[in-house]
Formats: sequence, C-alpha cells, structure tokens
Amino acid sequence: MTSTTFAAPTDATALEAPVARHLINGQWLGGADATRMNPARPDQVAAHSPRGGAGEVDAAITSAVAAQPDWAALPAPARGAILIAAAGLLEEREATVAADLVREEGKTLAEAKGEVKRAVDVLRFFGSLGWAATGDVLPSGTPGTTITTRREAMGVFALITPWNFPLAIPAWKSAPALISGNAVVLKPAELTPLSATHLARALHDAGVPAGIFNVVHGKGKVVGDALARDPRIAGLSFTGSTGVGLGLQSILNARRARVQLEMGGKNAVLVLDDADAAAAAQVVAAGAFGLTGQACTATSRVYVTPGVREAFLAELVAAAAAYVPGDGLAPGVRLGAVVSADQFNQDVAAVRGAVERGGRLLHGSADPDSTDGFFFAPVVLAGLSDDDPAVTEEIFGPIVAVVEVADFEAGLAAVNNSRYGLTAGICTNSLKFSTEFAARVQAGVVKVNRPTSGLDLNVPFGGVKDSSTNTFREQGRTALDFYTWGKTVYTGI
Ligand code: NAD
Repeated sequence: MTSTTFAAPTDATALEAPVARHLINGQWLGGADATRMNPARPDQVAAHSPRGGAGEVDAAITSAVAAQPDWAALPAPARGAILIAAAGLLEEREATVAADLVREEGKTLAEAKGEVKRAVDVLRFFGSLGWAATGDVLPSGTPGTTITTRREAMGVFALITPWNFPLAIPAWKSAPALISGNAVVLKPAELTPLSATHLARALHDAGVPAGIFNVVHGKGKVVGDALARDPRIAGLSFTGSTGVGLGLQSILNARRARVQLEMGGKNAVLVLDDADAAAAAQVVAAGAFGLTGQACTATSRVYVTPGVREAFLAELVAAAAAYVPGDGLAPGVRLGAVVSADQFNQDVAAVRGAVERGGRLLHGSADPDSTDGFFFAPVVLAGLSDDDPAVTEEIFGPIVAVVEVADFEAGLAAVNNSRYGLTAGICTNSLKFSTEFAARVQAGVVKVNRPTSGLDLNVPFGGVKDSSTNTFREQGRTALDFYTWGKTVYTGI
C-alpha cells in the first residue's frame, strides 16, 4: 500500500499528499478542507483532511446507535478475531503508516515504527481478550444461591485524542471499547488526521461492521464539543490538555455520563548521590528528549542531591548532544521536529523566560532557527528556583530543568509539590529509597532507574491529581472497566 491509497473522491485525486476521510456508517466521506504541513519541511504538504461539523457528528452517532446492539450480540471471540485481523493489516502497512505519521507529527521514523507496533500489539492484546472471562463466580450466604458478576457493553463511546501519539492513543481507547461490544466515534487531533484514518482503514478492511467504528475529523470546539453534549454518548474518553479535559468533564458530569481524562503532566526524576551519574543521565535524557519531549510522560524536571550534581550535569549535557534534531525520515536523526509553529514558539518562550529569570542554559539555545523546519535542540536548564514556571508548568518540548535538593526527603517533597501526578522516577541503587519513593510519591506511574516515558500495554496507566480523572485507568485489562457496566447476578436453584 502506498501513502496515496486512501479512498479519494475525484475532487482530491489531483492532490499530492494523502487525504484523510471521515468514516461514518462504513462510508469514507468529506472533502480536503484542511491542509497539514510537514513540521520538518514547512513547505511540504503532509496531509489533507475534511472538517466535520454537527451534521457529521449526528450521522456518526446515529449509525453507531443503530449498529451497536448487533455488534454486542456477536460472540466476543468473533469481535476479537476482527481486532486481531486489523492488527495484521496495520502490520502489513507499517512502512506507509509510519512514514505518514512522521510527516504529519514530526517524530523520528524509529519512534513512528514503535508506535505502529504498539497499536498492532494493543489490537492483538484486546482481541485476545475476546476469549477471556469477564466475570467471577462467587459464593452466597443464602443457601442454594450462586452469585456471578458480568460486565456489559454500554452503547456508544466518544473518543477525543491528541496529536502526540496519533495512532497508539486512538488504538488503546478503541480496542477495549470495541472488544466490550460498544460502538465508537473517534475525534482525532486536527494536526494528525492520517494516523487515525490508517487505524480506521485497518478496522474497516478487517470487517468491523458499518457504524461500529466512526471517525469525524475537525475542530475540537466543534466536533469534540458536539460529541460531548450528545446524550446518546454513554461515555467519553479524552487525552489532551488539562484545560480542555476539565471543560469536557463538566459537560459529561452534568448528565452523569461516564468520563475518563488523561491530561497534562510535569514529570520529575529524583537523582540521589548513590546513583551512577552516567546511567542516570541516560535515563533522564531518554525521558526528556525522546519523542521530542512531546510525551505526556516526558521528564521535564530533575531534582539532584549535592554529591552527584556536578557529575550528573556533565553527563546530561553530553547525553543531550547526541540528540541532534532533524527530519524524522532522515537516517540517524534521534530528535524529530516539534509538531507545529505554535508549539515551537511556546518552547522558545519557555526557555527565554527561564534565562531572563536567571536560568543557566547548559545545552541548547533560546533562539533556535525554524526557517527549515521546527527543529529544537535539547535544552538543559540549571540555576532556577523550584517555583520557577519552567520547573512547575508543562512545556511539552525537549526541555529539562535541573534543581538541586539537599537530600531524599527534600527531593520527594519537591517532586510532590506539583498540581500534576502522571509519572515520576528515581535514580538510585538504594532499595530503601526506591521503596520509600514508590510508596510516597504522588504519581500514577513510578519508574526506578528507568525513563518516565515508555509504558507497557498490559498494565494500568493513568495519573493522579490534575493529570487524570483519578477514576478509571487505561490500558491492560483494567481498561475494560471504563467501557462496561458491572452487574451482580444472584441465581437460586
Ligand atoms: P488539546 O487538549 O488541545 O487537544 C486534545 C484533543 O481535544 C484534540 O482532538 C482537540 O481537537 C480536542 N479539543 C480541543 N478543544 C476541545 C473542546 N473545546 N471540546 C472538545 N474537544 C476539544 O491537546 P493537544 O495539544 O492535542 O495535546 C497536548 C496535550 O495533551 C498536553 O497537555 C499533554 O500533556 C496532553 N497529553 C496527555 C496524555 C496523557 O496520557 N495524560 C497523553 C498525551 C498528551
């Protein structure tokens, strides 16, 4: 398959870039209303996509409501077989999907291939759960009575997703929704319409019935808002910024619909004196600069104790130098482009502000050149106070601030002094401190001697505090809870 094989109505055949489409009731619809430029080559078109509105949202939900009961009535292994077939198709199309992902999002080809593999594995994991038990058999205190628990489909789910994992996040929300017998309407980020369309294409080609998996492209305030307000939506799963997520939560809460939010982060690593300075620097660099720092789980603040501080900073600066930015499709590039001019300008403003407030720039620049692409060399900042905005506010770029702390207790307090609590890490060889840290840190995911970014697909994922709804977790079997009703059945014979 080449990158131009999306169904393209005649109005789009002359366009040189692939065209994303809505998928509504099994039909590929919509025109090339919006153009997405490649962030690594700002003069090159990466994708065209349609801009949906209330009409497309209504049509998608109507078709989903009509199709969902038959889908829920299919044996779960049959639903699973379709997800597993979709995984196979995505795997076959890996080269095209990964290249399109690089061109629309900016990450490196290796990272994009990793993301395709993640989506494939997620579809296989949830597909295989079609064979798994979904309830328990429990004893009752009443003679002759057996209790069973069941989990059942709820109807139609809305999924609203960000640009930074434009294939993996739609996959890890869709797969548990679908295997549970629900229908889905996905609203992908405007910047990355192709990746979601590839997922839709794989599911459609694998045999997901018309109306069960729908995609409506368009603006968040239009398509996302219309989805959230439609009373036929049983629940909404959102990943994106905290401000947008909290607004959606109040809409869904007003009608007591189910809502799951994964939002911002300001993920910290604590480096203790007993850590190996070079190994800690590699852990921090991978977490801070991998994926261009545009992961919700990225490391963006580091607290380091005095005995290891100088050695750690020297190693971190050396590690940063290996992340040379460039076009993600070029061989050997380790740091892809920043996603957009807006995000690039936010990154520059954050670094300039930090330097103006007395921060020392140990690596990177406060004045990068974006003429040939939104390339932003890794930034290492030191000398900032622990309440500086560069230390407390999410930036979402390859930028890390390093702050000295007196000891473990001061470091743990600093890590916890945040409105966010997504991931947190510690670099230490001490069993005592790593155990203490895991027990007392306020974060949904804890990493010991491993980067804060990077997750396995079979285990729960989610944050605490303002990073998450603090209710339903994503990923692994736990993900099924959000997409199903629990029921307890007492049977007397
Ligand atoms: P965003 O909040 O701007 O957009 C996310 C999605 O919401 C997009 O599809 C967008 O179109 C839609 N949207 C925007 N306004 C809306 C509205 N008023 N109503 C309904 N939908 C609306 O976020 P982004 O810029 O795409 O992504 C970056 C943010 O996502 C960062 O803050 C990052 O921390 C967060 N993020 C979090 C996780 C996580 O798992 N916690 C993962 C990835 C990204």
